[in-house]
Amino acid sequence: MKEVYTLEDLRHWDAATAGEEPPIRLAVFGDPVAHSRSPQMHNAALEACGIAARYCRLHIRPEELAEALRLLPKANFIGANFTIPHKAATLDLVDAVDENARKIGVVNTVVVEGERLTGFNTDGPGLLRAVRAEFGVDLRDLRVMVLGAGGGAGRAIAAQCAIENCERLVLVNRTFEKARQLAGELEAFFKGPRVYGPVRRLEAVPWEEAKLAVQLANTDLVINATSCGMKRTDPSVLPASILRANLLVYDTIYTAQSTPLMEDAQSVGARTANGKSMLLYQGVLSFEIWFNRPAPVEVMRAAMG
Ligand code: NAP
Repeated sequence: MKEVYTLEDLRHWDAATAGEEPPIRLAVFGDPVAHSRSPQMHNAALEACGIAARYCRLHIRPEELAEALRLLPKANFIGANFTIPHKAATLDLVDAVDENARKIGVVNTVVVEGERLTGFNTDGPGLLRAVRAEFGVDLRDLRVMVLGAGGGAGRAIAAQCAIENCERLVLVNRTFEKARQLAGELEAFFKGPRVYGPVRRLEAVPWEEAKLAVQLANTDLVINATSCGMKRTDPSVLPASILRANLLVYDTIYTAQSTPLMEDAQSVGARTANGKSMLLYQGVLSFEIWFNRPAPVEVMRAAMG
């Protein structure tokens, strides 16, 4: 199996994958995609469950996405995952969208049935499962601050918090306008009778230290959904001086064991977790959608490395 396949391969899938056994019937679409750990996680799961199919990487550029999606039935695919930059565009290119993915506004999983493509989102539900597994609490019982609420992951996470009707949701983004706009889109979820103290249940807040410090006094869980922290030289997204011991800090970054934010949070006594559990559970939920059976979670966790 090649490290990365292309649209040209997908156009002639039988020839491009001749001799591959078991056949390749699942893929992650991305641009770039070479870094994706999804093949190792899903191939271990497929093997452990005795399913005669394999999962590969497909390098698909934005202008190739529509054609690539329509080639999936002909290539006998079971389904696919979608990563940067395809998650929003895929929503408009499939035949049907599951209700949760429609609310989140982003598709990261597609199921192929005959010629019909159905879109799902497992990033938001994956984060929900990750928070429960890491901290033993549910989003619905938490006051949550999402840093990077204007990005793809941040939007999915914020929408999942809204769907769960979390106690409070604070949206923060470097480009403030994106956070403000998302707050407008999510307003309807917070109109219910649930009342929480003197602060507003849903707020978009500019990225200013004094304003964030005030919001953190009314926050239980901080989620970093920015890409800041992926490099060791990146600064922490929040200064240690405004963090407190009773915060839970979830960093969606999974390429490093620890990030500057996690280290600062640990230095004040806060509990922290990195994004590996979100990556694991979004994969677990995709597997369960494709095969309608429980995924081998521990096999997938071990294969992620
Ligand atoms: P994206 O759509 O490109 O969004 C990037 C976000 O980061 C935007 O909100 C951007 O703000 C913000 N940002 C970038 N540099 C920043 C900086 N120096 N300071 C403050 N904010 C900054 O990317 P994405 O797909 O959402 O991914 C974002 C992060 O989520 C990545 O670290 C990725 O690894 C992680 N992720 C994890 C999982 C998982 O399963 N664990 C899944 C998906 C993504 P602007 O809007 O101002 O540009």
